[in-house]
Amino acid sequence: MAQEALDRVAALTQLSEDEQILRDSVLEFAERRMRPQVREMDEHAKMPRDLIDDLCALGVMGIEIPEAYGGSGGSFFHAVLAVEALSQVDPSVGVMVDVQNTLVINALIRWASDAQKSRYLPALASRSEGAYALSESGAGSDAFALATRAVSSGDRYAITGRKLWITNGNEADLFIVFANVNPQAGYRGITAFLVERGFPGFTVGKKEDKMGIRASSTCELIFEDCEVPAENVLGEVGKGYKVAIETLNEGRIGIGAQMIGLAQGALDHAVAYVKERRQFGKPIAEFQGVQFQLARAATELEAARLLVYNAARLRDAGRPFLKEAAMCKLYSSEAAEHVSSMAVQLFGGYGFVKDYPVEKLYRDAKIGEIYEGTSNMQMGTIAKQLLG
Ligand SMILES: Cc1cc2nc3c(=O)[nH]c(=O)nc-3n(C[C@H](O)[C@H](O)[C@H](O)COP(=O)(O)OP(=O)(O)OC[C@H]3O[C@@H](n4cnc5c(N)ncnc54)[C@H](O)[C@@H]3O)c2cc1C
Repeated sequence: MAQEALDRVAALTQLSEDEQILRDSVLEFAERRMRPQVREMDEHAKMPRDLIDDLCALGVMGIEIPEAYGGSGGSFFHAVLAVEALSQVDPSVGVMVDVQNTLVINALIRWASDAQKSRYLPALASRSEGAYALSESGAGSDAFALATRAVSSGDRYAITGRKLWITNGNEADLFIVFANVNPQAGYRGITAFLVERGFPGFTVGKKEDKMGIRASSTCELIFEDCEVPAENVLGEVGKGYKVAIETLNEGRIGIGAQMIGLAQGALDHAVAYVKERRQFGKPIAEFQGVQFQLARAATELEAARLLVYNAARLRDAGRPFLKEAAMCKLYSSEAAEHVSSMAVQLFGGYGFVKDYPVEKLYRDAKIGEIYEGTSNMQMGTIAKQLLG
């Protein structure tokens, strides 16, 4: 077969040289810089500022930002690889970087004006964090039922309402906030705004105390006649639903990446442990029952990775990927739950205590089936594609 044809049918998991370099350098960073702090960050539910600074220096806080704006000029697939590698060591850091890249920066690259790009992209690439605020207490799966309102007074909008569950809320400087400018128009009134932390009338409320991904902050946001200049509308007035749909369609591939990274981390711990742990006079790795558990976990992970990489590569190729993205999130979050549960099982009693890392990964896995569209919502999307 000609080389060109071979290149075209390359395995999904075959990485180009730059993809390989990125993945290896992020993994090296995660092991050296993050691993020693993972337990403390989980216990104290804290994302250290100096870690965020080091992630900026590594280039992973602005992967798709063009070099002209100080970013890494990478692809969506690069972002997926970075999120996967970070999540192998700590899925909390994985989701922070995921929201920054696949939601916030992605939305800005696609929808922001040149002036907005010049104002916000260099800061996001070098020092500041972003958050994406759609959900509310009464609007989760039914996100467009949001009650936050924006009232225009010429050159300004006044936003009033509350957002819930906002990842990076504690650390972010820039928030993409969805509010309705014309409730009578239903979802066609939804508009996306770029809100800076310092805007009058905006405060970050309660930080949630969570079961997993504890170092990733999840906060309530409060808007009381929050003043936002009209030039901070992202995209068009009344087209916020499009901004939300398009970014979330892509964002869920990033959650898939978080979940396969997590599953890889759990599998690696399990493989190392079963070779060390001896019962009945030999390493437990020698029992076929243990080997089969590992084999099934590795197979699920491989299938999940293929779904994630396929969705990401389709997206970068400009091909339709809606169904594939929903499938990759649905399947990889289930795989992460199964693989991390298996890891706890193979560690026995040691898997149930915090001295070993798999207990945390098991807790971290659950969120994959909930945020950026629950598993039921993913199945709804897949079914709609099937049924036409
Ligand atoms: C840690 C964390 C971080 C988050 N980060 C963000 C963020 O950064 N930005 C943001 O905007 N949001 C964020 N969210 C919100 C998240 O996206 C929502 O929690 C999620 O979409 C589910 O909404 P809900 O919690 O209101 O659940 P609900 O929508 O009330 O769902 C409850 C249950 O009902 C099921 N259900 C609902 N409707 C249907 C239906 N039509 N058919 C079948 N089943 C259905 C669901 O599958 C689920 O099992 C975050 C949430 C968490 C927990």
